[in-house]
This record gives sequence, C-alpha cells and structure tokens, in this order.
Amino acid sequence: MPGGAASYDPEAVRARYLAERDRRLVPGRADIRDLRTDEHFARYRDDPFTPFVDRDPVADNVDVVIVGGGIAGLLAGAQLRKAGVERIRIVDQAGGVGGTWYWNRYPGVMCDVESTIYLPMLEELGTIPTRRYAFGGEILAHLEAVADRFDLGTDALFHTGVTGARWQEDTARWRVRTDRGDELTCRWYVLAVGILNLLKLPAIAGMEDFAGPSFHTARWDYGTTGGGPDEPLTGLADKVVGLIGTGATGIQCVPPLAASAKHLYVFQRTPSAIGERGNRPTDPGFAAGLEPGWQRARMDNFQAIMMGRPTEVDLIDDGWTHHYAAVQHPPRDEGMTTAEYLRRAEKLDYAVMEAHRHRVEELVSDRATAEILKPYYRYICKRPCFHDEYLQALNNPNVTLVDCPAGMERITGQGPVVDGKQFEVDCLIYGTGFQAELTPLFRRSGHDIVGRGGVTLAGKWADGASSLYGMMSRGFPNLFVMPAPGQQAVVTVNYTQLAVLGAEFVGGAIGQLEARGVEVFDVSAEAEEAWTERIVGSYVDSSAVMSACTPSRINNEGHPEAMNPRNGNYGRGLGDWFGYRELLEGWLRDGRFEGLELEVRSTAP
Ligand code: NDP
Repeated sequence: MPGGAASYDPEAVRARYLAERDRRLVPGRADIRDLRTDEHFARYRDDPFTPFVDRDPVADNVDVVIVGGGIAGLLAGAQLRKAGVERIRIVDQAGGVGGTWYWNRYPGVMCDVESTIYLPMLEELGTIPTRRYAFGGEILAHLEAVADRFDLGTDALFHTGVTGARWQEDTARWRVRTDRGDELTCRWYVLAVGILNLLKLPAIAGMEDFAGPSFHTARWDYGTTGGGPDEPLTGLADKVVGLIGTGATGIQCVPPLAASAKHLYVFQRTPSAIGERGNRPTDPGFAAGLEPGWQRARMDNFQAIMMGRPTEVDLIDDGWTHHYAAVQHPPRDEGMTTAEYLRRAEKLDYAVMEAHRHRVEELVSDRATAEILKPYYRYICKRPCFHDEYLQALNNPNVTLVDCPAGMERITGQGPVVDGKQFEVDCLIYGTGFQAELTPLFRRSGHDIVGRGGVTLAGKWADGASSLYGMMSRGFPNLFVMPAPGQQAVVTVNYTQLAVLGAEFVGGAIGQLEARGVEVFDVSAEAEEAWTERIVGSYVDSSAVMSACTPSRINNEGHPEAMNPRNGNYGRGLGDWFGYRELLEGWLRDGRFEGLELEVRSTAP
C-alpha cells in the first residue's frame, strides 16, 4: 500500500490525530437552524423541481398508508402489491417518488455504492445500470420505473406532509392527517421516512444577512446557477460561489462548480478521506453471465466482505471492500490479546489513511492546499468518500480551498468570514448534510404518532427505541417502521439491501396477517422486552476509541459516550446482518407471528 506503515510511530500519530480533533471540537460546532420552525430559512425546504398544484383534500379509507416514497417506501409498496394489497397510498412531501434521489439533484450527484447492488429490483425490471456507479438521474429514473411497475404513483399524495397519525381503537384503523387537509384511514401504517430527509443547516452567526442567493444542496437552485445535473452551470460564468461542506455531497459538487464558476471558494471544516472510485461504463458482457437471483447474491457478497466474512471472490472490488471492510475487521490471530488486536487495527487504519494522504499529494499540485486536504484521523471516524475528479478540480486556478477547522466566524452580507478575512461571494451553497442516523425516528418522521392510550412514539422512545426487530413497537398496533440505523435493526453500507429486507418483511407480514383475517396486531410486552434486551446486551461501548476521533456524525459530534445503547443494532458493532435477515425470514416462513398479540376477525376478508 503506498505510504505504508514503515515509519509508523503510534504515539506520534495519536498525538497528531488528537490535536486535529481538538481544532474541530469547539463549542457550538453541532448547533443548527431548525428548518422545521425557522421562519427565515423556511424557503430552503421548498421544492424547486416540481410546481405545486392545488388540489382538493382527500378523505378515504385504504389498506395501507406509506409515509415516504423513497427507496424504502417504494420497495414496501412493491412487496405489498406482490402480496395482493390493492389500496395503497404513499404520502410524500416531495413532488414525486425517489426520496433522497428526488431531492438531491445537485450537479455531479451520484452514488458511490456500486449501481448493480444499489439500484433495487434490477432483475424484476430487467435493467442493467449503464455505469459502475450511477449518477442521480439514472437512479431517480429507475425508482420512477419501480413505482410505475407496481402502480404506486397513481394514488400517491405528493407535496403532502403528514401532520399526525392516531390509532383508532374503535375502528382498528390509523387516522392520518396531512397539511393538505386530507384525512385518510388505513388498516396498516408504514413509516418509510428515511434518514436523509431532514436538511441540516448549521447555525452560523450572521447567516441570515447574506445578500445573494443561497440554498442547500438538496434543493439545488438551477434558476440561479443555470444548467442541470449533467449540464454546465451557465449562470455562474460571472459569479463567485462559496460552497460550505466537503462531505460526500460537497465533493461531488466541486468538479462541476469548478468548471462553471468564475471563482469557487470551498470552505472545508474537516477533509474527507477520498479514495479512488474507478467509475466506468458497465462492462457490455456483464448481463450475459447472470443467473436468476444474481442481485441478491451480489449484495450478499458485498455484505459478507463488509462484515469480515471469508469469501471466495470480491465481486464489487472497490474502496468499500478494500479499505472500509479491512479496517472494520482486521484479521485476528489465534491467541492474540485484545490489546494486541487493537494495536493491529490501529496500525492497519494508519496504513489506509496514509494511502489517502499520499493520494492527496499525488493529485494536488499546490503543497499548502494538499496539506489542508490530508485527513488526520482514523478511517473508522467518518464516512469515507470516493471520487475520481474532486482532488484534481482543486488544482483549477479559479478554485480556492479555505481551511476553517473550527467553522467560519460569521457570514456577512458579502459572504463568509474566516480568520478575520472576508470572502466576497455572489452565491452561497450549503453542502452541510442532513440530521441523519442519530436523529430519532419520531423527529425524522415529522409528525406525532399517537398509539394506544394516547401514548406518542416520541414519548415512548424519548429514552431510546423499544421495538420488536426495530420494525414494530408495542402500543402502536398495525404500525411498521422500515428498518434503519439507530433503531434496533442493523446498519448496512448499502442501504438498499436493508430496505429490500424491510420491504419483504412488511409485504410478507401484512400479506399473512390479511390472509389469516387478523384485524389488529400488537407486539407482546415480553417480545419487545426481549428484543430490546438483546440490543442493549450486545452493545459495545466503543467510546474509548471513538472519543479520539475527529468529531463527526459517527461519533455523535465528539460525544460518543452520550450514545444510547437502546438505539444500537442487533449484534455487535454495525450489527449481525445475516443473523438479522435469518430471523426476519424465519419469522415469515414459520407463520406463527411469534411475539405478536393478534385480534382475529370472525371471518377472513
Ligand atoms: P455530511 O454531513 O457528510 O457533510 C456535511 C459537510 O458540511 C461536512 O464537510 C461538514 O464538516 C460540513 N459542515 C457542517 N457544518 C459546517 C459549518 N458550520 N461550517 C463549515 N462546514 C460545516 O453531509 P453530506 O450531504 O455530504 O452527506 C450526507 C450523507 O448523505 C452521507 O454520509 C451519505 O450517507 C449520503 N450521501 C451518499 C452519497 C453516495 O455517493 N452514496 C453521496 C452524497 C451523500 P465536518 O466534516 O467538519 O462535520
């Protein structure tokens, strides 16, 4: 590995990493403007892509309401269709399906998980992605095709936010209200709100004074920039642009912005570790050798490697399987003590980070710029990034990288101020991400979910999740929550694989419940207690290692000790994916509805 570990001095490395952490671990670092209530920035949430059309409120009774028309909601809908469910309404704030791929249309948007495992239902739709890593437009078109195939768009209510859902004991239905005055009732209620649905807008002094156009990357304003996701941003030819954020989103925007703007300032708080992506058109022979079931097998191969399981072949063979899997699961020799193993893990991590720092040196010509781009923290500390053009784009003479490890001082009418220096920009773009995994489900769902006895999910989960399989919760009958990180399920780098499993479970379970004439299910107290105990029991407190990390979403912005074991995973660490799937599939197979209390109708429908 280039840069290797030959000159490795663990004490010196630790000291350097801690010093870099401390430059970033500053008060107020995680403060945000809450876009749900912030009047000044309320327009940041508006949909720039689809005109809002007035409509009459809808009042009806359906089988299933699904909140969210992204990957999880669409897959749940598809599986429900397969189970024979007819009346399904997806409700989404967006103007169409696609979820995160509906909203994120910034220039250069793509997915760094391989397209053959990220795009769901490729076999059902007979589709082969055009590139190894798909751009956003192709992903959105594919998700629209899934919606069409299973007729999920016709009855969907778009540009509609759910304002409340309440369980009706007398009718054994959920009553769902929306901000368009709709009143829906449904037998089954499915939450598929995702983890990237709440924009994160940092609180920066003076930000509301900025005089020019500004927006978040998940609501790209092509009216200001001109062009499109794959077209030159013609409106920026005479504009100075400021981009805040260098995470997975920020780095993807930089090459197109650099190509179009008069000048681009990139404000970087923490450099990402940016590995090679190696994008290319899909091999023309790829489809020829595929057997039925190939996509699941390919997803499983990736997942097995990500979990450190021995495999004969690495089908994906990219930075995730080489670097991420390696540092998560260093080989452990027989008889090795924990301390020895941890030292090995640290050394391996160092070698991987050295390779990333070396890549910066190779690709960035200005030495000072290269220095501030080098990530000094462990690879496990932050979500890694992959890109083939980002670092090179920083060599453009019209691009300036501005180092602001403690964040920017303030924003004035003219633009950001860093270290007392005013950067004058015409347009300011926030690539500052989302209130993601650690944000509780009840906040991400954006509405009160009121179960039996008037208990809210927010109230019940205030001190952490409490569930069966991370998908059902006692006191909230007939409610399914699609599995996601931070809520007693498992974590997968390829989110689609988790959504596929969740959807198969929801579709399979509702199909069986309907067939058995079950009117109401609730989770038994014992089953929920047992599941929650398993989650808490397998929680590994990694705060000793993670507190040395640069602050990030993964370590709770520098406070891993405050993470709640109840919001952990099934199994240690990121969770036991294969064990979790076996449990869910076994539960469906044996058809005994174990862990549920059922009320059965006298006659099946
Ligand atoms: P991130 O949260 O990963 O990054 C936000 C960026 O904004 C960071 O660089 C952060 O700095 C910076 N930032 C936040 N607040 C401030 C501030 N006050 N001053 C200066 N900088 C600030 O968001 P992204 O949108 O990049 O990515 C979010 C997630 O979306 C990813 O983790 C991934 O899950 C998904 N995604 C996936 C893609 C894919 O290819 N699969 C592509 C894009 C997104 P700091 O690092 O210091 O916090």
